[in-house]
Amino acid sequence: MKREKSQQLYSEALQYFPGGVNSPVRAFKAVGGTPIFAARGNGSRLYDADSNEFIDFCCSWGPLILGHNPAEVRQAIIETVELGTSFGMPTEAENRLAGLILSQHRYLEKIRFVSSGTEAVMSALRLARGATGKSKILKFDGCYHGHVDSLLVNAGSGLVTFGVSSSAGIPPEFAAATLVVPLNNLEAIETALQQHNDVAAVIIEPIPANNGLLLQTADYLRGLRELCTRYGVLLIFDEVISGFRVGFEGAAGYYDIQPDLITFGKIIGGGMPVGAYGGSKALMSHIAPEGAVYQAGTLSGNPVAMAAGTAALQQCLQPNFYDTLAKKTQTFCQLIRQHAHRKHYPVKVHQIGSIFWLAFSQHSAIRSAADIDATSMRYFKQLHAFLLEHGIYFGPSGYEVGFVSAAHSTSDLALAAAVICAGLDDMASTFAL
Ligand SMILES: *Cc1c(COP(=O)(O)O)cnc(C)c1O
Repeated sequence: MKREKSQQLYSEALQYFPGGVNSPVRAFKAVGGTPIFAARGNGSRLYDADSNEFIDFCCSWGPLILGHNPAEVRQAIIETVELGTSFGMPTEAENRLAGLILSQHRYLEKIRFVSSGTEAVMSALRLARGATGKSKILKFDGCYHGHVDSLLVNAGSGLVTFGVSSSAGIPPEFAAATLVVPLNNLEAIETALQQHNDVAAVIIEPIPANNGLLLQTADYLRGLRELCTRYGVLLIFDEVISGFRVGFEGAAGYYDIQPDLITFGKIIGGGMPVGAYGGSKALMSHIAPEGAVYQAGTLSGNPVAMAAGTAALQQCLQPNFYDTLAKKTQTFCQLIRQHAHRKHYPVKVHQIGSIFWLAFSQHSAIRSAADIDATSMRYFKQLHAFLLEHGIYFGPSGYEVGFVSAAHSTSDLALAAAVICAGLDDMASTFAL
């Protein structure tokens, strides 16, 4: 496989950007080697700067639920861009996307558009604090919520701990406003809420998909909802990945749980930069200019991005869209599972809807960050290199999940599964598993 052009572009990028990239995980640090540079995409296929072709399971980290460059979204973008790109005034395009979402999502009454998932989370936290007059936030070890200062924290040692900054540049006071507890443990949440009466909100990825795919049980999520209600704490579902992914109503609909606030990103913009947060009319009335919680954005509700989001979500609302996608993904995962099982490889395939994750572990249930064996990432590194060489693109870290899009055909998936199984054989022989 030729890599010359990507390597040349990467050397040039290193002169411009820290680490040669504009978002750290793109740099291949977790898997070694240098990043491939994307040139174009079409459906399930990604083409790099050296014209190599890949079946793509990264899908831009989740937004591309229709695959690359779907005709409906491209057309909507082109038609809208002909009229101008930004106005700093309200446009009908915002109403269209909001109207579509609110009419089809039973867990939301009002919404505010922003430009990224991080911004959505940051704004939802401010709203939660403004509405409750409390200051602390409780988060879970193993959930990612964007690069919001107070949420870039690791757990300390203990069941309920104050956050310890996981990035330089965050004042300890910010991290100390965040409590961290493990996933899959209701007792830890209750202990935290008993010990701290100044918690404004609990924020969770109801389908934790940024540190492996740490599926929680429905009972656990229902228990979390009850605890938040009992202790008068707002519950925020960070659905930046799961929103419009496991169903139009995301994890809220999947588990039928009403959170107080929901954050969105990724799919909502149809491949353009859009984020959003929403909740009840009463709660959202705290946002300026109606209320006292300030939140603004020069490019918020950008018409081109709104048109892309609307076109994408209209496709998601086609009959059986999510069923078909989930069934395809299930069949694909089953092929890999069966192979791993037959060969006695320590490989598990977690899956929900069109999200999947390969775990290299003997652990029976992997539901919290501590259940993940960090040393198993060497297996992923080997697999990733094999897959790249054989035309399958996975996000360059074993902690990242994969995404199947509507554009992945049954034959794409059968082909990809065969290559992945061969990759597992290669991995097994390398490590003598
Ligand atoms: C991606 C992601 C974010 C951050 O969104 P950005 O658009 O990258 O800022 C926040 N929360 C979750 C759950 C995410 O997956």
